[in-house]
Amino acid sequence: MVIRLPIVCEICGHQTILRIGLGHESVQEHVFACPGCAQDLSIVLDLSKPPNVGVARLSNIKEIVDNQELKSPTILNLHPEFIIPEGDRNRDQVFPWLEQGHALIKKQMNNLERSARLSDADSLLKDETDGRLTVFEAWQLVSRSWSLEIEGKRDLSKLQLAKYNAKGFSGSTSLPEVAFHFLSSALGPVAKELLLPAADCMGEAYDANPIELDRFREYYQTEQIDVATRDVYSVLEEFFRSYADFRQALVYVRFGLPLPSKAAATTENFRITSMYYGNAFEVLADRAVLLAGINNILAGRKYDQFEKMDLKTYLQIDKAGKARAFQSRLEFARLVNEFDNQLRNASHHKRIRINRGSGKIEYQTRQMAEAKKMSYATYLVRCCSITVNLAVIYMLELMLTVDPD
Ligand SMILES: [Zn+2]
Repeated sequence: MVIRLPIVCEICGHQTILRIGLGHESVQEHVFACPGCAQDLSIVLDLSKPPNVGVARLSNIKEIVDNQELKSPTILNLHPEFIIPEGDRNRDQVFPWLEQGHALIKKQMNNLERSARLSDADSLLKDETDGRLTVFEAWQLVSRSWSLEIEGKRDLSKLQLAKYNAKGFSGSTSLPEVAFHFLSSALGPVAKELLLPAADCMGEAYDANPIELDRFREYYQTEQIDVATRDVYSVLEEFFRSYADFRQALVYVRFGLPLPSKAAATTENFRITSMYYGNAFEVLADRAVLLAGINNILAGRKYDQFEKMDLKTYLQIDKAGKARAFQSRLEFARLVNEFDNQLRNASHHKRIRINRGSGKIEYQTRQMAEAKKMSYATYLVRCCSITVNLAVIYMLELMLTVDPD
């Protein structure tokens, strides 16, 4: 764990942000040279009552309580048990939680690289030797604990999570970690392709303005993550209820393969999948707030200040317009590449039908207009794509909000 402590030197007035890695002693002392005047400064931390971190003594320094007072401070990394490479001494490294997020992804990806050659989606989670969980079986477990967690029954949820023994998973039995692993496994290579560049943007936002990213994180923890957990769950639950239909198309999306021409779905339960796209669209539009906030920070603004509006207005604008806020950032635009408002309207308002003769689905974008047509297989692919978008954004939301340890 790393704490951040903005300080000012009482001798020269130089401002420094200390990033102190916490060790295992109950008292931790650091003596270091002020980056401004090179005089000795010191700090003693009281770690006797974890998880509390107390500042027991300061010499020649004062704590800066109001972050507004910070004017281009120097970063200084301190750790009681590790040598910090010279080049990293004053680098504001990626947050530990972000590092953990990256480590988590890397761990999953190693496993996925190997499985990526297999064409059967279900074998990605399945251990060839002792055949543990298929994607669908894993979902049964994850779903149960996810739902229990939403109901506030954390103890029961943990019992379910303890049964999650997917190959390559060595995380703790907390829902965020299991959900993260499950999603990255179930989505396969496309997850890595979309997630890593976007996660890097989050790291850049942190490097550019750690204080602002921290504010965003706090906002997210209090205002957004519970809503995300509830809404993303309801979409995934619907997805897996129609998994027999969707799995036919999922494999193309996972591996980024084009649908073969004249592809025909062999399972057509359109009655229950017809509203799916619209439902997923609604939640995706809400979750876009994560990308918008990060994008604001990367543009040098506060997380809640948009180019032409504030956050309150943004949350109220038409859902179709929400992606406009970050469209110029390729890494984020890719996460809403399946976000079709016309298809959404048709799906949402049940103005979409299937022509059993041609096997095509048809919908009108406005009255009297000629109906748009696509094969049911294409509709399924688009449903899978929007699900992948939503899942990857949720994984980023977890990376932003999960506390390390
Ligand atoms: Zn000084």
